[in-house]
Amino acid sequence: MTATAHYRGRFAPTPSGPLHLGSLVAALGSYLDARAAGGQWLVRIEDIDPPRCPEGTDSTILRQLEAFGLTWDEDVMWQRQRHDAYQHALEQLIDRGLAYPCSCSRKQWQAFDIYPGWCRDGVCDASQPVAWRLRSDLAQRPVGWNDRLFGEQHFDPADLGDVVLKRKDQLWAYQLAVVVDDAHQGISDIVRGVDLLDNTPWQQQLQAALQVPTPRYLHLPLVVTAGGQKLSKQNLAPALAEESRGIRRQLFQALQLLDQAPPPALVEEPPEVQLRWAIDHWSVAHLAPQPHRSAPPEP
Ligand code: GLU
Repeated sequence: MTATAHYRGRFAPTPSGPLHLGSLVAALGSYLDARAAGGQWLVRIEDIDPPRCPEGTDSTILRQLEAFGLTWDEDVMWQRQRHDAYQHALEQLIDRGLAYPCSCSRKQWQAFDIYPGWCRDGVCDASQPVAWRLRSDLAQRPVGWNDRLFGEQHFDPADLGDVVLKRKDQLWAYQLAVVVDDAHQGISDIVRGVDLLDNTPWQQQLQAALQVPTPRYLHLPLVVTAGGQKLSKQNLAPALAEESRGIRRQLFQALQLLDQAPPPALVEEPPEVQLRWAIDHWSVAHLAPQPHRSAPPEP
């Protein structure tokens, strides 16, 4: 493929646990898409929710990426250092009348599918702590994109509700942080697991509200257990290998899970050789648009 000078991709793990085969597939897919386009590939640690992120897991993830040959450009960004940028974005939305404080608890609106917007024109209970929400009723425009794997996606703004931007416990919401940081880092292409596809319409509403560009989207298949569940710490996803034989095998498996059909002999090769082959042969057209791939059996 010819170089696309403006391509900037990213891998944005939440450091709630070390990477496993499922997260390796997401990292590898975004890496290959960026490198095949001659673009840059950045890493951002999404540690906005400290109780969910055990100390040291971020360094473990960075070491794992390096061991698999997935080297990044520029400095790693940590979301816990980005408070001022998120606050600035929230203030912009408040100034434009697009964000409002909300004292309602989930219990109060549990009879509804989405929050009905009771605090839009004034906070219901000023004695309570507040969250901040986006006014989706003022962003009434069709939300949609042409996903590079899953095709045309359309969402009715009326079904999305007023997404939380800052939580009652004062932590920033993922939706705000991810949009502010993707814009700040000039990300042109988001390549991530299909489990995040449902989040994209909120992120697009926020991009419109903050007047920042919308990237292209490629959602990748998820690696699932035999029971059809996303691999995770909870269902004991196999850990990533630390020695060279296991690393070669798992990198090769990740290429297979991305439908790239690597030649069998490639499994014997070190990461840099496997990655060179994979960059040269990367083809989104080879990806089947089914949302799940079964985890390979453990050796
Ligand atoms: N931090 C999110 C996760 O690890 C991914 C965010 C994204 O790629 O947009 O699930």
